Amino acid sequence: SVRVRMAPSPTGFLHIGGVRTFLFNWLYARGRGGECLLRIENTDTSREVAESVEQIERSLRWLGIEWDGATRFQLDGAERCRAEAARLVAEGKAYEDGGAVRIRMPREGVIDWDDAVKGHIEFPAAELEDMVILRSDGRPVYNFASPVDDWVDGITHVIRGDDHVSNTPKQIVVLRALGAEPPVYAHVPNVNGEDGRKLSKRHGAVSVDEFRAAGYVAPALMNFLALLGWAPDGETTIMSRDELIERFTLERVGVSPATFDYAKLDWMNGVYLREMPVDAYAGALVAFLRERGIDWDESRVRAAAPLVQEKIGRLGEFPDFAGFLFHDVEPDPSLLDERLLRAAEKALDGVAEWNAAEIEAALKGLCEDLGEKPRTVFGPIRVAVTGSRISPGLYESLELLGRDVALARIRAGAA
Ligand code: GLU
Repeated sequence: SVRVRMAPSPTGFLHIGGVRTFLFNWLYARGRGGECLLRIENTDTSREVAESVEQIERSLRWLGIEWDGATRFQLDGAERCRAEAARLVAEGKAYEDGGAVRIRMPREGVIDWDDAVKGHIEFPAAELEDMVILRSDGRPVYNFASPVDDWVDGITHVIRGDDHVSNTPKQIVVLRALGAEPPVYAHVPNVNGEDGRKLSKRHGAVSVDEFRAAGYVAPALMNFLALLGWAPDGETTIMSRDELIERFTLERVGVSPATFDYAKLDWMNGVYLREMPVDAYAGALVAFLRERGIDWDESRVRAAAPLVQEKIGRLGEFPDFAGFLFHDVEPDPSLLDERLLRAAEKALDGVAEWNAAEIEAALKGLCEDLGEKPRTVFGPIRVAVTGSRISPGLYESLELLGRDVALARIRAGAA
């Protein structure tokens, strides 16, 4: 049965391009009843590594990518690597060279494989020089440790970034020398920014933590990442996790680099946010604010949820967009209108039951009385009450603010 591995190097944060590759592994395994391991490719055991591992695990869990069994560490296989190297030396397939150990590369012919994404690939053996597999201090190199782990772990499919293509012939030689059958290799395209260069901080957010902090929701980010270099057909874009699992195949992974389109992610995130049941949406807002350390009244945040759900594309827009419901505002005086605001105060003062419907009736009546268009009348009211020209629906906002605060702001705007 299928067994894949996600193999991050614990070097700081989890890069979103790497996450996309892990997602492909996970989708492939989950869609085939297979297993997906998490293997940390560490070369030391420092505190930084431990912190980085924690961050990797947290990011994957948040996205909804789980792994089977405990997290594994490449370094734990070092003893096994030394034993295998000694065996290769004994068998004449490797030799000692000034304290280090080198593996013999074939002298002629080609080393080739049928890549599940890129098709047939071959390297002339003569281009490869005998590779160091153990350094003189006994540490295995990546191109030895990785295939040994793949073999020991029974990995059937190695799905990894394009940048590893040149490592693959070396790893195939190692596996054959060990007497192992190489797994299926699938090299998936790089993820670039819109300028065609490898996605980096220059382009915008690149770590899962950053996307999370900006208020992207996990199912939207997962959906977006799945489409970086893969598509089920020419059309479908919005797919749940289960649909992704069901439809993912390596055959439909493309060969050309994928472009990380931030605007498309914003759009997709908006789609997910709008489709959430309002209770779940409110819960996501509460959790998001809590994580940001913003301690706004929870019941009011929940009440504000339906006012903003249609309007914002990221949870991170909420504090600016709806902040007027939680703190005082400082409207730009040039956008206010004294005469109009006095009239509005009077009209609203007469509202018997302070709810959106009655507020609407009062404000529409005011427009008629003044012989003005709603746009002209509502603009200054909106600015006085919300501090901004862009806000959630005016009637609902006034209702939620409560009569006293709403009228006080209108009065202050007229002063
Ligand atoms: N640790 C490698 C990386 O971070 C992955 C290598 C592999 O998947 O074989 O790119």
